Amino acid sequence: MEELQPQELAAYTPADAPVPTGEIVVERGSTSQEMAPRLNRSAADVVRFLLQQGEMMTATQSLTDEMIELFAVEVGATVRIVDPGAEQEEVLQKMLGLDTVSEDDDGTVRPPVITVMGHVDHGKTLLLDRIRNANVVDNEAGGITQHIGAYQVEYNGKSLTFIDTPGHEAFTAMRARGAEATDIVVLVVAADDGVMPQTAEAIVHAKAAEVPIVVAINKIDRDGADVNRVLAQLAEHELIPESYGGDTVTVEVSALQSLGIDDLLEQLLLVAEVSELTATPDGRASGVVLESYLDKGRGPVSTILVQRGELKVGQPLVAGAAWGRIRALINDRGEQLKAVGPSTPVEVLGLSDVAAAGAAFIVAQDEKTASKVADTREHWQRQASFANAAAAASGGAKLEDIFRQIQAGETATLNLIVKADVHGSLEALVESLKRLERDEVKLAFVSRGVGGITENDVQLAAAANATLLGFNVRADRKGRALADELGVEVRHYEIIYQLLQDIENAMLGMLEPEYEEIITGDAEVREIFKVPRIGSIAGCHVLNGVITRNSKVRFLREGTIIWRGTVSSLRRFTEDVREVATGFECGIGLSDFQDLRPGDIIETFDEREIPRV
Ligand code: GDP
Repeated sequence: MEELQPQELAAYTPADAPVPTGEIVVERGSTSQEMAPRLNRSAADVVRFLLQQGEMMTATQSLTDEMIELFAVEVGATVRIVDPGAEQEEVLQKMLGLDTVSEDDDGTVRPPVITVMGHVDHGKTLLLDRIRNANVVDNEAGGITQHIGAYQVEYNGKSLTFIDTPGHEAFTAMRARGAEATDIVVLVVAADDGVMPQTAEAIVHAKAAEVPIVVAINKIDRDGADVNRVLAQLAEHELIPESYGGDTVTVEVSALQSLGIDDLLEQLLLVAEVSELTATPDGRASGVVLESYLDKGRGPVSTILVQRGELKVGQPLVAGAAWGRIRALINDRGEQLKAVGPSTPVEVLGLSDVAAAGAAFIVAQDEKTASKVADTREHWQRQASFANAAAAASGGAKLEDIFRQIQAGETATLNLIVKADVHGSLEALVESLKRLERDEVKLAFVSRGVGGITENDVQLAAAANATLLGFNVRADRKGRALADELGVEVRHYEIIYQLLQDIENAMLGMLEPEYEEIITGDAEVREIFKVPRIGSIAGCHVLNGVITRNSKVRFLREGTIIWRGTVSSLRRFTEDVREVATGFECGIGLSDFQDLRPGDIIETFDEREIPRV
C-alpha cells in the first residue's frame, strides 16, 4: 500500500462535521485510510487524533480495536468492529439456505442443557462426577463412559444434559461467538468458603446470558460450613434465595458424601419445566461445537451439541471453518449412534479440521456446499487473524524484547501465539499465562489453537511480532524453514511449568539459555513391517538431513508428538548401517513403540545450548 502524501494528510475535517448516524461497520484491523471515510473524516484526522493520544501511526497502519473505538467516541459515531469476512458471512448463510430456515419449533420438549460454574476448588468437578455416576443409565452393553466434554443422565424418566467442561472460559468463549448452548447454570458455592471472586464472576456471566441459576451449596459436610452466611452473600449479589422470599433456588449438597444430589437433579428438572425448553426433533440439524481436538488415530474429533433437528451419520456437515461427511456419532457411553436429536451431545468423526469451540454447525444440502462454505470461512478467518496480528504488532513485543520494553518504563505487551495438542491443555495454558500479567506487562494472544505449528502460524507470528509457543506440538518442516527465514522465535515445551517459568523469566530479563534443537534429519514412514521377535520396523524415506543410529528421535503425526526415544536400529535393505542420507530408503527399528502408521514423520535431533546475547 502507498503512504499518503503530506498534502493529502493535511486535509483535516472541521470538528463539527456531521458523522453518519446509526451503527457503522468497521472491519477489524482497518487502517486510518480505510476507516476514516466511513466516519466522514479524513485519514489525517485519525492520524492527528491518535498522535494527540500518544500513538504514532501512519495512515496505512492497522489500527487496534481500541484506537478505532477511541476515534469513534471522539467524533461521536457508533461503530461495530467486525472481523473481515463478517459481511461475506451473510452470503454463506444464504448459500446454506439459512435465510429461509424458520426458527419456529414444534413445541416438542427437549432436555435442559446445564453448565456448572463456581470458584476454583469449590467442587465443580466432583459434583459433575457424582451426578454422572449416580445416574448413568445401565451400563449393560459394557459401555465405557468417556469424557467427551458433555454427558446426559436420566433422572425420574427425564434426561438432563451436562456440559462437563467446568469453567467460565468455555462458557464465555461460547457466548462470545453468539452460541447460547446453556439453559441453566448450576453455581457451586462451598459452604465453608462462601462467595468468592470467581463465584461473583460466574453470577455476572450467567446473568448476562439471562439463564436461570440454581445454587448448589456444596461441602455441607465440612466443619466450617455456614449455609446461612452463603445465603446472605448470595442476596448481596442479587440472587435472593427462596428462603429470603426471592426466586433463586438453592440446594445443599455434599459432593464428597453424595448428599443432596437427587434434590439438585429434581430442582433442575423443575426449573427446566418452567423454562419450557422445546425444539423440533426432526429436519435439518444444527447446533454448536462444544470442544474439539485432533485424535492421533481418528483425526479431528468434535463434541457437538445438537440444538434442533436430527443429525444422522452420512450427512454433510459444516462446523465453522471445518466440514465433512459424518463418519460416526458416538455418545458419552462410547456407543455408536445412527442419529441424534435436540440437546444430545455427541462426538462427531469425519470433519476435515479441528472445529473451533463455540462454532455453529449445520447440516448442508450437499458436500459441495459444505466444503465451499467452510473454505470461504477459513480464508476470511485467516484474513482476520492477519488483521489482528497487524494491529498487535504496532503495540507489542516478542519474548526476547519484552524486558527492554519494561525497562524503558513503557507498558509492555508480550505478543504470543499458542498452539497445543488438545483444547484442555490450551485453555489451561492460556489461563495460567494470564496469571503472569502484571501492571507493567500485558499479554496479547494473537492467536491460539489446537494442532501442529504450520507455516500459517509462523507467518502470523512474523506479522504480529509474536513469539510462537508450542505445547506438545512441533513445527512441521515447512513451518521450521519459514521460521528460520523470517526470524520467528518458536519455543517448544512439553511441561507447562517450564513454559510459565520461561515467560516469567523473560519478563524479569532473566531468560535462561535455551537448548536449541538442531533437527538432524527427518523421514516419512511409508510402510510398517512386523518382524518376528524384533517388533515393528518402519520402512521410511529420508526427506531431509541424515538419520543416524542412536540419535534422539521423535515421531510426529499431523505435527503432534506421539513418541520420543532413540533410533535403536537402522538398516538399508538387510544391512545394519550407521546413517542414511536424504533421498534414500531405510528401515528404522522402534524398540517399544508399535503404533506407527504410513504418513507419520520420524524426526531426529541434537541439542545445543544457545548463548544469550
Ligand atoms: P473444582 O475446582 O471446583 O472443580 O473443585 P473439585 O471438584 O476439584 O474439588 C476441590 C476439592 O474439594 C477436592 O479435594 C474435593 O475432594 C473437595 N470437595 C469437593 N466437594 C466436596 C464436599 O462436598 N465436601 C468436602 N469435604 N470436600 C469436597
